[in-house]
Amino acid sequence: MTDTLIDRRDLAFQLYEVLDTESLSERERFSEHSRDTFDAVIETADKIARDKFATHNSAADKDEPKFVDGQVEMLPQVKEAFDAYADAGFIAGRYDYELGGMQLPESVMAACNGFFTAANPGTAGYPFLTTAAANLIRVFGNDQQKSTFLPHMLSGRFTGTMALTEPHAGSSLADIRTSATPTDDGHYLIKGAKIYISGGEQSLTENIVHMVLAKVKGAPAGVKGISLFIVPKFIVDEEGNATERNGVNLAGLIHKLGYRGTTSTALSFGDDAPCHGYLVGEPHQGLKYMFQMMNEARVGVGFGAAVIGYRGYMHSLEYAKDRLQGRKPSEKNPEAPQVPIIEHADVRRMLLAQKATVKVAWRCAYTAHA
Ligand SMILES: Cc1cc2nc3c(=O)[nH]c(=O)nc-3n(C[C@H](O)[C@H](O)[C@H](O)COP(=O)(O)OP(=O)(O)OC[C@H]3O[C@@H](n4cnc5c(N)ncnc54)[C@H](O)[C@@H]3O)c2cc1C
Repeated sequence: MTDTLIDRRDLAFQLYEVLDTESLSERERFSEHSRDTFDAVIETADKIARDKFATHNSAADKDEPKFVDGQVEMLPQVKEAFDAYADAGFIAGRYDYELGGMQLPESVMAACNGFFTAANPGTAGYPFLTTAAANLIRVFGNDQQKSTFLPHMLSGRFTGTMALTEPHAGSSLADIRTSATPTDDGHYLIKGAKIYISGGEQSLTENIVHMVLAKVKGAPAGVKGISLFIVPKFIVDEEGNATERNGVNLAGLIHKLGYRGTTSTALSFGDDAPCHGYLVGEPHQGLKYMFQMMNEARVGVGFGAAVIGYRGYMHSLEYAKDRLQGRKPSEKNPEAPQVPIIEHADVRRMLLAQKATVKVAWRCAYTAHA
């Protein structure tokens, strides 16, 4: 089976001929970059994706994470892959140099992440959520929140999640019931339950930073009463070291059909112990802030579908070139050698339909990041 995740010529065409990504290096933000640095980082992504992510894609689908004594047990290969991704600087790839990032353009980061998602969408979910949660803190958090959480999320020491959905409130976030009660210390006590939280528990990192929607007691009804809180699994000191376990707990894991390597969790807040949360930005503006992460997730999920479809096409193409079956209608000799099925008009028609669908989706996805 082909180990090509994304054809590099296809990618180069999209990045450099359609999107003119190279010209971004004329802008001040990307002035230290060139096509050479873009290609080098893409080469690294391709290699790590093939060596560390693709190798356990099937195993992670068959052997999904397990709920054992309130903890998650998962394949050790997931941590190896996550650490390789973080160590190569991809979580921080789009961020400023001063934050430890590489200041790469979104289109180049999308190109890199395409390899990881095509290789193993479940494992790729953890760094994807982390970089998007970090972006929420970067844009809307205060200085203390940024210095406490950002460096550790961007280095891969902590992961991040988005915690919106509740058992009775999916599309209708106006109806969430998770509450936030102010304390005298200036932070809040969070109480409630969330469900379907991707990456809400894992055995990859020493801490998890949940970005939680909740309503401050006495808030206006509906979406205008929703606030955003940082709720870490472990309370941390200013250096990011764990001090005490916070009252957010794994209530269960949810089985799903795809992306199985990414845990889907039910979380309880403040059930057995106080759960401390830190308000991000202004009260009651939380849904507006959270839309930034929701939109990143929407584009990311669509992008995932496009690259998974693209990889499926790569397998179809390889199989059609390899599989010998029958002869052309013009060949009347039954002893003539069989031909690869790609030579049959109807197989070509199906391959072209597949190619047209996935390449249009793929190009739309890259363009969305440009
Ligand atoms: C793989 C996966 C990962 C997820 N990860 C996260 C996560 O990390 N964090 C998180 O907070 N949540 C997560 N979710 C939950 C997700 O946000 C919800 O599934 C989503 O908001 C829909 O809510 P629901 O499933 O309760 O469906 P419902 O809201 O019950 O909707 C059921 C159906 O009714 C339709 N519907 C509902 N209301 C209306 C309306 N007003 N008008 C017309 N149609 C309507 C919907 O479109 C849908 O077809 C995840 C879900 C999945 C499947």
